[in-house]
Amino acid sequence: MAKKYVYFFGAGKAEGNESMKELLGGKGANLAEMAGHKDLRLPVPPGFTITTEVCTYYYKHNRTYPKGLKEQVQKALRRVEKIMGRRFGDPDNPLLVSVRSGARRSMPGMMETVLNIGLTTKTIPGLIKQSGANERFVYDAYRRLIMMYADVVMEKASGIEPKDEESGIRRQLEKIMQQMKEKKGYKADTDLTAEDLKELCQLFKAKVREVLKRDFPDEPYQQLWEGIGAVFASWQGKRAVSYRRIEGIPDDWGTAVNVQTMVFGNMGNDSATGVAFTRNPGNGEKEFYGEYLINAQGEDVVAGIRTPAPINEYSKSEYNKDLLTLEKAMPKIYKELYNYQKRLEKHYRDMQDIEFTIEKGRLFMLQCRVGKRNGLAAVRMAYDMYKEGLITKEEAIMRVSPAQLDELLHPIIDPKEEMSHKPLAKGLPAGPGGACGQIVFTAQDAVEWKKQGKKVILVREETNPEDVEGMRAAEAILTARGGMTSHAALVARGWGKCCIVGCSSLHIDYIRKEIHVDGKVLKEGDWITLNGTKGNVYEGRLLMMDVSAENKLLNDFLKLCDKVKKLGIRTNADTPEDALRARQFGAEGIGLFRTEHMFYGKGSEEPLYILRKMIISKTEEERKKALDELFPYVKNDIKGTLEAMDGLPVVIRLLDPPLHEFVPREPQKLVQLAKDLNITLEELSKRQEALHESNPMMGHRGVRLGITYPEITAMQVRAIFEAAAELIKEGKNPYPEIMIPVVSDIKELKDQHLIVEKVYKQTLTKYGLKKIKYMFGTMMEIPRASLVADKLAQLASFFSFGTNDLTQMGFGFSRDDIGAFLPDYLEKGILPEDPFQTIDQEGIGELIKIGIERGRKTRKNLEVGICGEHGGEPRSVEFCHRVGMDYVSCSPFRVPIAKLAAAQAVLKEKKKWKP
Ligand code: PEP
Ligand code: MG
Repeated sequence: MAKKYVYFFGAGKAEGNESMKELLGGKGANLAEMAGHKDLRLPVPPGFTITTEVCTYYYKHNRTYPKGLKEQVQKALRRVEKIMGRRFGDPDNPLLVSVRSGARRSMPGMMETVLNIGLTTKTIPGLIKQSGANERFVYDAYRRLIMMYADVVMEKASGIEPKDEESGIRRQLEKIMQQMKEKKGYKADTDLTAEDLKELCQLFKAKVREVLKRDFPDEPYQQLWEGIGAVFASWQGKRAVSYRRIEGIPDDWGTAVNVQTMVFGNMGNDSATGVAFTRNPGNGEKEFYGEYLINAQGEDVVAGIRTPAPINEYSKSEYNKDLLTLEKAMPKIYKELYNYQKRLEKHYRDMQDIEFTIEKGRLFMLQCRVGKRNGLAAVRMAYDMYKEGLITKEEAIMRVSPAQLDELLHPIIDPKEEMSHKPLAKGLPAGPGGACGQIVFTAQDAVEWKKQGKKVILVREETNPEDVEGMRAAEAILTARGGMTSHAALVARGWGKCCIVGCSSLHIDYIRKEIHVDGKVLKEGDWITLNGTKGNVYEGRLLMMDVSAENKLLNDFLKLCDKVKKLGIRTNADTPEDALRARQFGAEGIGLFRTEHMFYGKGSEEPLYILRKMIISKTEEERKKALDELFPYVKNDIKGTLEAMDGLPVVIRLLDPPLHEFVPREPQKLVQLAKDLNITLEELSKRQEALHESNPMMGHRGVRLGITYPEITAMQVRAIFEAAAELIKEGKNPYPEIMIPVVSDIKELKDQHLIVEKVYKQTLTKYGLKKIKYMFGTMMEIPRASLVADKLAQLASFFSFGTNDLTQMGFGFSRDDIGAFLPDYLEKGILPEDPFQTIDQEGIGELIKIGIERGRKTRKNLEVGICGEHGGEPRSVEFCHRVGMDYVSCSPFRVPIAKLAAAQAVLKEKKKWKP
């Protein structure tokens, strides 16, 4: 017996089912399921699917078909004819079919479709009869067939390559139609009468003959087989091939072909067509939602020429509230449709996107598939379906992508509005969400304008610590330079603020207060809108949407993730306020408290001034005096944070950045400083110069500061222990973890550890305590540290991977200057992605693995975490889970995303969840 190549579906029966996507393609498998599954058996127009194996055969055998195919197609067609009571090619009562592609994975718009096959000069009268003498309808169907067929079958599939789009046959036929409309003074296609369309069909046929040198076929079987051949040919069409390259779809998968009875929604006022969702894809509410058009074809709904009407009260909007609902216009059919959608959702256990057509009062289901949804809807549906018992907790977790969760945490640009605008420029998506505001060019202006109640976007070449107040005042930050771990990006992400960096097409003129971009000039005060999730900059003021109010839903969903995930989720927070916020988001500790942040921003004036005195000090005595002055500020800051995180671990990193970063530049501050230190301005500038470094990122920073100035370490450690001691006395439960940055050798750690031990003992005596719970550990951010991790673990009870610096030093890419070459690296495929965004698992990831393995060899219970920016990036979180870290730490706003990614990592590993 010949192999089975053709699978029939219709009239409550189907030879295939949903699990046969490889053989029948996604569309064919779903049609079979809808038509034939015992729980469904929906009114699908009958038809059959020719398998993907035929496509593979076709290409292996010089574009011929396997033996037996013709017979199988004939047999299936006879079955369809029987159900419909019409015959293919019958002049009296003809059956028309559509021929459509359908690959295993959806390739939207990449392959071809031909509708109305079987319409010929002989069958036209029969169709007129079927349609109740609707000549206009029939000739409209005929002209659509000629147009589609000439384009898809006679031109594209035959390998004819028109010089340009204008000379392609479709364009030429469209022109003829346009000319006719102009001649007759019509505006819309629907103004064309039956007579007009009849004439148009003649003109079309003549043009086809003239351009393609062959007649439009007037034989139904020729149309059918050439149509099938054209769909197979479109698998190797240019668009389809390049789409497969991008999406990684193998060429040998092939496409299936679906041949299906045509049903018409444009046969009169008892006909209609529509699209609906089993739940609202915009907010996830469990309500049937959709639109339809009376007397129209599917493409009319998509084309947006007429405003579709709501299917029910619930689907009404500002734009269509006055139109008649399907529920009112055709109550019986609506009820039938309503029942089908209920069954479909229950069967597929997910929200379905449904296409339907009503032909002369009869409902047909044309397609169903899992519906696309936005972030809010994804979370609500997943959670609700879990609660309804429709899906498991694991499935609910896998149904939401981290990017969708992110949408719940920030205001976003209204998606509809965004689709209708073209970006003015593109940069790196450094801080998610959307924002709109008026352009300002200085931090000071940002603060001033905000005071006047204005919304501003701070646009800078790049930012530095002195801009922090302006950055806080701004709705969003846009910079022309810098990468994903540049100052602007770090700060913005920490606040959950919208930010785009490295937008290199912007030319900023600070003097004139103008941006030049793409031939346009934007001035101070002009409105722009940013999408920080995508990195898009738009001119003007786009409509915004705020979904962040859905906190309860988010928390409920995150509780599910908590039950599954293994990784701890901590946060990077530098102030008691940030710590509190992160705790509300569900952070389980602080993974990185950068002490230096107390010298930036609000309330930093005094401590910063004292720090500057300390930096410029020359003698140990001078420095100690300044440190004593600084001590209460540092202690207070740390105490506030330990208190906010009471009971949870707080990793406090000792001072890291090169000191010259804090040296003032403003002249009056320099004068004041010289006066206070009792030195001349010349002496001050000499000391300042001495701090200059050629390569500060690899200079006198991190542990190196503590080695050369042990008193700086001692002051900080004292602040930590005394803060903890005071809290213990107040009945609290502080848990500091003291972390030494930029370490590359055990001897550095030994040096610092001695100081820590000494201060620890002194503090115990001072406060009369027996013990203060704490840990001593190191950051892992220099490649050498990973290689000597076994030694480091002799002293360090914990490692925290600083993947910002580890990436910088592992690649030798300056994290602040990568913007200059990253775009070329990405374009040429030298780097698959920005390694400062997602961990380079092959290289930097290997350093991490080595570090963990060697560290744990020495100390089995070594606590390992990550505190670089990667700690909140989903794929990096998955990596951290796989290599056995104990926790990840990320900015407060990314805590929910990290939780979801950590839960998904467990499920993917267990393979409990199948896609
Ligand atoms: C790191 O290097 O990954 C890190 C967290 O430290 P910083 O970004 O402060 O250098
Ligand atoms: Mg670092």
